Amino acid sequence: MSSGRASSVASRDRQIRRDLEPDVGPLDDSHECEAGHCDDPAVFAVPAPEGGDARFCGFHLAWFRDHHPGIWTRLQSAPSHILDDDPDEFAVVGRRFTALEDAPKRIRGGEFVRVALLTDGRVLYETADPDDQVDYLAVNAKLTETASGSVPVDRAGDWLRANRQKHGWLDCEESVRRALRGEEQQNGGDPDGE
Ligand SMILES: [Zn+2]
Repeated sequence: MSSGRASSVASRDRQIRRDLEPDVGPLDDSHECEAGHCDDPAVFAVPAPEGGDARFCGFHLAWFRDHHPGIWTRLQSAPSHILDDDPDEFAVVGRRFTALEDAPKRIRGGEFVRVALLTDGRVLYETADPDDQVDYLAVNAKLTETASGSVPVDRAGDWLRANRQKHGWLDCEESVRRALRGEEQQNGGDPDGE
């Protein structure tokens, strides 16, 4: 009886170890990218920093490469019986940014200032010195405008918060982060979004 329990513990431990061991490499297109708000098909699985594995589309794989260089180097040097594909070939950036700092701080002759890196690799800008309306632009890595909007100055915080919830942000300016956090504390917590 006691040996039966010991072997069931051993098999449970094996199962846990299997679950924690990352299963890395190229994927067929039956998986969805696991980055928040991304609906693109996943092309490659990587070891997740928190354990297990994470499946990403080409863009989020490139983003992962930029943010986890240590894991990426280990992936690249994996022996070929574990991984015989070059992960770099799957990390495709295209017309997208993988880091907020890669986008100019100001665009359109200084009229618009950088706000956030959206989860799809576009960067959000807002009017640098607004009067009563704040204009917003989302641009791709060619700085081509792909979306725009305009809200009254006193609703800008709500608009940004709703945008962050709806589209997900990979990163944002520290000043924006502080401003939104301050407002959230004043309002007593979680916004309802739109
Ligand atoms: Zn993705």
